[in-house]
Amino acid sequence: MSTRKKAPRITHAERVIDAASGITKGELAAYYASVAPLILPHLAGRPVALVRAPDGVGGELFFQKHAQHSEIAGIKLLDPVLDPGHDPLLQIDTAEALLGAAQFNTIELHTWNATSRAIGKPDRMTFDLDPGEGIDWQQMQEAALLVHVLLDELGLPSFLKTSGGKGLHVVVPLRRQFGWDEVRGFSRAIVDHLARTVPERFVAKSGPRNRVGRIFADYLRNGFGATTVSAWSARARPGMGVSVPLAWEELPDLDSAAHWTVANIAGRLAIGNTPWDAMERSRTGLRAAMERLGHLPA
Ligand code: ATP
Ligand code: MN
Repeated sequence: MSTRKKAPRITHAERVIDAASGITKGELAAYYASVAPLILPHLAGRPVALVRAPDGVGGELFFQKHAQHSEIAGIKLLDPVLDPGHDPLLQIDTAEALLGAAQFNTIELHTWNATSRAIGKPDRMTFDLDPGEGIDWQQMQEAALLVHVLLDELGLPSFLKTSGGKGLHVVVPLRRQFGWDEVRGFSRAIVDHLARTVPERFVAKSGPRNRVGRIFADYLRNGFGATTVSAWSARARPGMGVSVPLAWEELPDLDSAAHWTVANIAGRLAIGNTPWDAMERSRTGLRAAMERLGHLPA
């Protein structure tokens, strides 16, 4: 059996895919080749959704969660029973599949909060913090720290990443104990609690009008089938930000959620996933936190 696969050829490598930065398809593919050892641990074993941009960042974007067939070499088509009523879900476990995805114009990779081997039991919660109109970066930093403190008080370890866009993502690694409804319900209770205790800063309801001058803490990333951009994914936005794992101590000095981009990420690769080193050993059950918040599943 041959274990070494040839990297897929990148065609039209010279094509500029982001006018703002001048980044080409070949440069994005080279980024994914260089970051493969860092991103694959976040992708492997989980259903993935691809954001493909055949005409680049300014063109139409295609969000793809399922496929009956895929031209992407090495991509896995999962058993359709995992997501009944749909074509197979996709999974990227190898550099070959990652670069194959780049060859077929994938810019972003989004993952589920569960692995495909235990798709009924999420192994993390994700809180997506989105700034409403009028919210500046310093208020985002403060808000993320408040989320960190609340989770801490609930006994839940949490890990931070930039979204590569406007906001921040806070990830709580879970023991696979509860199903989607319980985890989503509890993540909602956490966000409702935030919005009740710090209403001048947080809102739990979506919609741009509710968000003016506030930060929307989105718990909806925690439902079955919901996805969030993976750490180390590039973003299909002008400037091509990258979602980067961060230590909480780094947040005060960070200047934006799009601080790192495909163009300047090289210097961060040596730090890599170390800010999240404790994630696996931090997996936590939710029962104690549920009790503390007065939210017990039925
Ligand atoms: P920001 O920090 O700027 O808010 P983000 O990554 O938090 O960036 P979005 O890029 O707006 O937020 O993604 C919104 C959510 O919707 C993500 O969970 C993503 O997986 C999902 N998503 C993105 N595009 C589509 C689409 N076309 N159809 C369905 N879901 C999508
Ligand atoms: Mn967001």
